[in-house]
Amino acid sequence: MEELGVGLIGTGYMGKCHALAYRNVKAVFGDVPRIRLETLCDVPADRASAMADQFGFARSTADWRELVTDPKVDLVSVTTPNGLHRDMAIAALEAGKHVWCEKPMALTLDDAKAMLDAAERAHKKTQVGYNYIWNPAILHAEKLIADGAIGKPVHFRILYDEDFQADPEAPWTWRCLKKDAGLGVLGDMGCHAMSMVEVLMGQPEALIADMQTIYTTRPKPEGGSGEVENEDVASALFRFEGGAQGLLSTSRCAWGRKNRIEWEVHGTHGQMTFNQEQLNELKLFRSGEGAAQGFRTILSGPDHPPFGDFMPGVGHQLGFNDLKVIELRDLLRGIVGDRAPRMDFGTGYRIENLIHGIHRSATEGTWWSP
Ligand code: NAD
Repeated sequence: MEELGVGLIGTGYMGKCHALAYRNVKAVFGDVPRIRLETLCDVPADRASAMADQFGFARSTADWRELVTDPKVDLVSVTTPNGLHRDMAIAALEAGKHVWCEKPMALTLDDAKAMLDAAERAHKKTQVGYNYIWNPAILHAEKLIADGAIGKPVHFRILYDEDFQADPEAPWTWRCLKKDAGLGVLGDMGCHAMSMVEVLMGQPEALIADMQTIYTTRPKPEGGSGEVENEDVASALFRFEGGAQGLLSTSRCAWGRKNRIEWEVHGTHGQMTFNQEQLNELKLFRSGEGAAQGFRTILSGPDHPPFGDFMPGVGHQLGFNDLKVIELRDLLRGIVGDRAPRMDFGTGYRIENLIHGIHRSATEGTWWSP
């Protein structure tokens, strides 16, 4: 396939990120089909037409059903709020399109399962927006662990903190409602943390969790206050196959933290650590190299694929939007090569199962197993 027509639904934070990835992917990686920007959908219609002009799409519509049945569209991006993902993704798959869907997959586990079933029925390719795992530093960490650079992983910790809900006066939004957002911090950020767990440690075999809603009401912009129906903070303790233990703590109310996905893997012969706020740096300590040396900083560069496809210089730094280009390349390779993209709806469903498992364990106060 030399060309692929795309349709983009939503033009907010993630819509722009997908649009940039579509524009850049062929220029960065030569080995993917050429992309035709066909149809863009947003509401209202004048926003859709203005954004189609800005992003370079041929047509615009305010009706997403028109987009998913457009014969010129082969691949549909779903970048709308969580509650719209299920219907849009299933309709696109049923119309014979491949789907690139933002995380979390859906509001409920049943909805995510319906999306997985639709993908399997349609035999189309899917990818969920777990951009952080595509960082060359993370792919290098995965390789170092597999090569035994720190020995056998025995313990894992991950913190994922932001402060967009830290202010008690921050206004009430759809993100506070179960029917529009589904889970709280678990659906927004915990699922990204679990995508890291998937790549670095594999699937936990059991977990026990607790949750906290720090601000149970928030001021509504029109006056009065609205209830916060989902969690601000979630913490979980994991057991992995082979005896390793892990810890997760994630908060949307952590003042000063902007995108702190900070993890450490403790091995029998060393330790590796990473923080997404310095996304081009991995820290490695190996026991045989002398305690006085401390942690070594591995700065991302062309030795860590696919960094070199973007630029030849070590230390010149990739950014958030570049990770989305790498994620898209994997989807396109899946479409052309007829293989499953790494974060397809099957993997996405496994991650949904884990975040809903954390929620269930915290609600019931008992251990939970996938
Ligand atoms: P946003 O509010 O910035 O954008 C949502 C867009 O959807 C807007 O352009 C809105 O007009 C449009 N929209 C709403 N209803 C629509 C409809 N019926 N038809 C067509 N368009 C419609 O939101 P966002 O921050 O981009 O979040 C969107 C999704 O992306 C969410 O699921 C969120 O969890 C996810 N997200 C992922 C990441 C990541 O790192 N992968 C980061 C942020 C958000």
